[in-house]
Amino acid sequence: AEMKTEQLIEQTEKYGANNYHPLPIVISRAEGIWVEDPEGNKYMDMLSAYSAVNQGHRHPKIIQALKDQADKVTLTSRAFHNDQLGPWYEKICKLTKKEMALPMNTGAEAVETAVKAARRWSYDVKGVARDQAEIIACTGNFHGRTMTAVSLSSEAEYKRGFGPMLPGIKLIPYGDLDALKSAITANTAAFLIEPIQGEAGIVIPPEGFMKDAFELCKQNNVLFIADEIQAGLARTGKMFACEWEGIEPDMYILGKALGGGVFPISCVVANQDILGVFNPGSHGSTFGGNPLACAVSIAALDVLIDEKLSDKSLELGQYFVSKLKEIQNPQIKDVRGRGLFIGVELTEPARKYCEELKEEGLLCKETHDTVIRFAPPLIISKDELDWAIERIKKVLS
Ligand code: PLP
Repeated sequence: AEMKTEQLIEQTEKYGANNYHPLPIVISRAEGIWVEDPEGNKYMDMLSAYSAVNQGHRHPKIIQALKDQADKVTLTSRAFHNDQLGPWYEKICKLTKKEMALPMNTGAEAVETAVKAARRWSYDVKGVARDQAEIIACTGNFHGRTMTAVSLSSEAEYKRGFGPMLPGIKLIPYGDLDALKSAITANTAAFLIEPIQGEAGIVIPPEGFMKDAFELCKQNNVLFIADEIQAGLARTGKMFACEWEGIEPDMYILGKALGGGVFPISCVVANQDILGVFNPGSHGSTFGGNPLACAVSIAALDVLIDEKLSDKSLELGQYFVSKLKEIQNPQIKDVRGRGLFIGVELTEPARKYCEELKEEGLLCKETHDTVIRFAPPLIISKDELDWAIERIKKVLS
């Protein structure tokens, strides 16, 4: 007999490192916006694997691309060319209006790549003295879990016991232009920012900040790097969250939905004057740019574009926020979001609400203790959203 929820959780907890705190649910099947446990209970997914499943679980076109490519070739390494990488390069460059891309696998690796590119650019192009490059990032950021990413973090628990940290990093308060002004020196290589901070609790910078920060970077020959791993690719109601302030960053960092929740792929994209600093031997990854990931990613991007998921996210997001704002509850401190990237901030821990929502058939995850994040797959229909809103109202009222 197949194992059931209780046994599976027990086994997971017995043999797994204890680095996560999942809700007590096992998912054994998924389709579109729905997931199912081994007992056959169905739940609506309101997290989308942290926005990696914007296209919905197992989108048929993406799964077809995976199967077709699996029958041809899956991995060549970059010792040889493969026939999916070129088409993927062209697609991601045209979408971002940039000249060059560099593929990796996970988000954190793409952040590593961006930091390496920015540092080398500062030495080779800007003329910063050897080993003096500085990267400016923002408090509350989340850029992943590698040593570079945790060195960028302001979160004590992300760093505790992992020192020494990477030098050459400065932090400014998220959204503080004056602090950015003061932090920039002749050695500043780049300013790295999430256009909306996801893990921090769907935090949106003050209006105009991104645009002003971009201008400031231009005036000081500092690269403006947007980590759009979570906010990008239609999640916020625009293809890229930077569009909310009409800016085109020097470099995008993408991941998550780039592989449609089917296969990991991440990348950085920028123009030749920046990414041109890499030469053979300077950077790479065995699986980076593999044909399976590229074929899946092409299909994943096609789905975002063909199904107009940015527009859908924008429209349904506005509706969702307006409905959430109708809920009368003194424990609700704030409702905010862009597109279907929504945070409800409470005056108390959000975990118990997430547990109650699960009992009602909705899977949500608290972020930063007091925020419930609502980020369903973007293929959700208005009727399905209404179904969810009814249940959220019941739990939150
Ligand atoms: N950057 C941002 C903005 C993220 O939200 C995440 C993941 O949540 C990452 C980087 C790290 O991505 P990964 O978990 O794929 O390494």
